[in-house]
Amino acid sequence: MATVLEQLLALAAAGTMLISSSLTAAAPQNDVDGLLFLQNRQWRVSKYYEPKTIKAAVPGQLQDMRADAAAALEEMFAACKEDIGVTLKAVSGYRSYQRQSTIYSNKVDRVGSKEKADEYVARPGASEHQLGLAMDVGQKSDDVNLTSSFGKTKGGKWVAEHCWEYGFILRYKEGWEDVTGYSYEPWHVRYVGKEYAAMIHENEMPLEHFLLLIRQDALMEIVLGSNEEVAAP
Ligand SMILES: [Zn+2]
Repeated sequence: MATVLEQLLALAAAGTMLISSSLTAAAPQNDVDGLLFLQNRQWRVSKYYEPKTIKAAVPGQLQDMRADAAAALEEMFAACKEDIGVTLKAVSGYRSYQRQSTIYSNKVDRVGSKEKADEYVARPGASEHQLGLAMDVGQKSDDVNLTSSFGKTKGGKWVAEHCWEYGFILRYKEGWEDVTGYSYEPWHVRYVGKEYAAMIHENEMPLEHFLLLIRQDALMEIVLGSNEEVAAP
């Protein structure tokens, strides 16, 4: 009995399917407008990608997100207010490639080199905010934004516990730094839709690993499907 890997390689050799050079590498989804598109330091998005965004009707300043994400954010903020009486605010949503580029070059100017700047700021195209699906969240009552202490606030704890119910995931949890390439950011939520958010929450894993999981499931289906064909009389 051939292993799954042997079968995959045989299929690839027969030209039945394409196989990536590394089965363990997380591959980005093809659909940049899809809910699971992976954007990180490794998988950067073109400067030409600009999603259609609207302003979410929530307190804050940079509330722009894609329409489905904006609606979910409004729903989540309202639920937090109702549940624990905390008013959340949008600190920073959609960020264009151009804006990322400005932020990056300002940082390079300030610290003197790209190597140093890379420690603090993502290169243009590497910020998930470009997808229009990410939001940096804070408590309306707080002056200080986007620090790890948000995770210890009432609002921060509520977001960590409940955001999946509204289709969001905490993208950069503590302990995931080696996978995500980003430090702990309790304020950064990413919209993936309720169905996927529930699955990711249940599996308690970074998006990179979840994509790997569903990719392997898809490959298994191809292998099992081709086996059935072979076994048929
Ligand atoms: Zn963010």
